[in-house]
Amino acid sequence: MLTLTNVRPWGGDPVDVVISDGLIAEVVPAGSAAPGERVDGRGLLALPGLINAHAHVDKSWWGQPWVSAGGEGTTQGRIAHERAERDKYGIPNVDSTVAVLREFLRHGTTATRTHVDVDLGVGLRGIETVRAAAAALGGAVDVEIVAFPQDGVVRRPGVLKLLDDAAAAGATHVGGIDPASIDRDPVAQLDGLFEIAERRGVGLDIHLHDGGELGAFQYELIIDRTRRTGLHGKVTISHGFALGEVTGSRQADLLDQLRELGITWATVAPVRYAPLPWRGMRERGIGIGLGTDGIRDLWSPYGDGDVLRIALGFARLHGLRDDEDLTWAVELATTSAAGFVHRDTHGIVAGARADIVLVDAENVPDALVRAPRRLLVVAGGRVVVRDGELVV
Ligand SMILES: [Zn+2]
Repeated sequence: MLTLTNVRPWGGDPVDVVISDGLIAEVVPAGSAAPGERVDGRGLLALPGLINAHAHVDKSWWGQPWVSAGGEGTTQGRIAHERAERDKYGIPNVDSTVAVLREFLRHGTTATRTHVDVDLGVGLRGIETVRAAAAALGGAVDVEIVAFPQDGVVRRPGVLKLLDDAAAAGATHVGGIDPASIDRDPVAQLDGLFEIAERRGVGLDIHLHDGGELGAFQYELIIDRTRRTGLHGKVTISHGFALGEVTGSRQADLLDQLRELGITWATVAPVRYAPLPWRGMRERGIGIGLGTDGIRDLWSPYGDGDVLRIALGFARLHGLRDDEDLTWAVELATTSAAGFVHRDTHGIVAGARADIVLVDAENVPDALVRAPRRLLVVAGGRVVVRDGELVV
């Protein structure tokens, strides 16, 4: 039993949070919890643990000397560069993956959905690496795995079998990548992915960078197959830039179908891409998850693993200004992303996993725009960050 005293959930009235067996047992007015082991929350603002809904924790060279960017800037160019260079840096490996997960924790992320490369070169080794890294941290970061065919599916015979093996071995999702522009055979890739998902009872989370009508066409293929297979609520499209590029009734019709089928969206709010139609998505209750994507890897030197900063980027990209909208951006990074990590409840409420982040901020919008240090982080009931520094 541990009590986190005098904290302000979402900037509200001060409370004591009583934690037992890794879960929040009760939330009571400050000063009224029963005696026992305590951590003084000093009136700081409390948020539920952040959820990174789209990461690549296997790809990073975090903890190694700087690796200068190379290769061509296109999606295919990045894929080829990564495959050519990764062995040189020992990617994937447990130490770098642990280093990335520790950065997540330091920034208050206590759960993540990570894509993990599955291809003819590494097979399922990346998934084993990520599992070992998550275990090394004692499960402080709850890690959900998407078996991700970064190098293509149909164009690489044998990959579908690997994805199937990964699903059989406990990956909660099978991934996909640009069925049109990478495989140049969208129907074949999507049919293959949906067949595995239906048979294994796993979800799908498909990277889709293609813009405009080519992107929208693939949404339609995904929508059709989701409807046919009954994978309602189990399909995510990651990036999905084209949703912000199509307009008018075309866009509204797509949004209506996404809502009907419970298809969710994961975004990293990238600069230089079209904003998402966030109002239409919010009105319809279409799930949006925020992620860091890869950080410090052979794709890009950018990223620090802080999903609150991604929420800030999302707010800026979409022109959010008023307090309610800014608060919503923070909710996307935590409570409302619960479904991305298979949680029914995620929040500072009785019954939720005890994942809590404290920051010195006046209110939630203030916490968003400054993204201040995470002074205390509790993950699964355990204090993992104290005074802004990791203690695990
Ligand atoms: Zn990604």
